[in-house]
Amino acid sequence: MSELRWHPLLGEWVATATARQDRTFLPPPNFCPLCPTATGGFPTEIPEADYDIVAFENKFPSLSPHPPEPAIAASELYPVEKSFGECEVVVYTPNHNSTLAQEPVSQIYKLVQVWTDRYRELSALEFVKYVFIFENKGEAIGVTLHHPHGQIYSYPFVPPRVRRELEQSQKHNAETGRCLLCDVLKQEQSDGRRIVTENESFAAYVPFFARYPYELHIISKRHLLDLTEMKRSEQVDLAEILKQVLVAFDKLFNVSFPYMMVLHQRPSDGANYDFYHFHIEFYPPMRTATKLKYLAGSETGAGMFINDTLAEEKAAELRGKIEPVSRATE
Ligand SMILES: [Zn+2]
Ligand SMILES: [Zn+2]
Ligand SMILES: [Zn+2]
Repeated sequence: MSELRWHPLLGEWVATATARQDRTFLPPPNFCPLCPTATGGFPTEIPEADYDIVAFENKFPSLSPHPPEPAIAASELYPVEKSFGECEVVVYTPNHNSTLAQEPVSQIYKLVQVWTDRYRELSALEFVKYVFIFENKGEAIGVTLHHPHGQIYSYPFVPPRVRRELEQSQKHNAETGRCLLCDVLKQEQSDGRRIVTENESFAAYVPFFARYPYELHIISKRHLLDLTEMKRSEQVDLAEILKQVLVAFDKLFNVSFPYMMVLHQRPSDGANYDFYHFHIEFYPPMRTATKLKYLAGSETGAGMFINDTLAEEKAAELRGKIEPVSRATE
C-alpha cells in the first residue's frame, strides 16, 4: 500500500509506503541482495554473475510507475493522490565491502556517467517532474544495506526543499540579473577560508551558511543546470573532487564517514530554470569522533538549525585531509 497524503499545514505531500516495513534489514554478507548471484547460491536482486555498476527498480518503492489506488478516500481538507514516480537503486560496485570513498576515480567517473544516463532517461518520462539522485551512507543515518549503493527517486512534483532553493534563486536573479549560486561560488572563492579543494571545473567548500558541522557543497564552476550539460573533462573533474572529499571525510576520524549526499539539479517539468545551478550537498551526521548531530526541537519543530561549530574551522580541518588522487579513468 502506498499513497500521497497532503499536509495542509506545510503545503506538501507525505508518502505512505507500508511495504517498506518488510525490507531487508542489515543482512549478513552472504545474504546481501545487492551482491552478484553466486553460481548455485542465494538468488539476489542482480542475476548477472558479475556487473560493474548497475541501476534497477527498488523492490520496496515508495513511488511507482504503476501505483495502487489510494487505500483511503480524499476529502476537501485532505487531498490524496496515487504515488506516481519511480525509485531506483544504483549499485556502485560488485565489491560488498567497498565504499564510494574506496573506489578509484575511474569507478566514480563511471558512476557520474550512470547518473547522467539515468537523469536523462527518467527526466524524459511524462509523470516525472523531478529526478533526485542521492546516497544515504552509514548506520548512523539508518542505512539498512551496507553494500555500496545510492538511490534515485523520480517525483511527480518538485519537492519542497528544492522548490525553496528555486524560489530563492529566481528572486536573486530577478533582483540582480545574476545566478545566486554563481555569486555564492564567487564569494567563497574571494574569501577562501571555507574552500576545501578545487580543480579546473569544480569547487568544494563548507558554505558560510552551513547547518551541519561538516556540511560540504560541490559546485560546477561553469553555470550548468544539470549533469547532462557536462563535458567529458568536467565528468572526470567531478569524479576527482568527489574522491578527494570522500577520502578526506574518512580520514577525519579514521572511520568510514556517514553522510547523506544529494544532487540538486533543474526540475524536469518543462519550465525554464536558467537561474538555477547544479550542485551536490553533503550532510554528515557527525559532530565529533563520538558524537552525532541529532535534529532536535529547533531544527525539526521550528526549522532553525543550530550549528555549534564554525564553517571556517571545519573547512580548515577538511582541507588538511585533502590529498592528490590519480585521475586515471581507465
Ligand atoms: Zn553485497
Ligand atoms: Zn550559476
Ligand atoms: Zn541545494
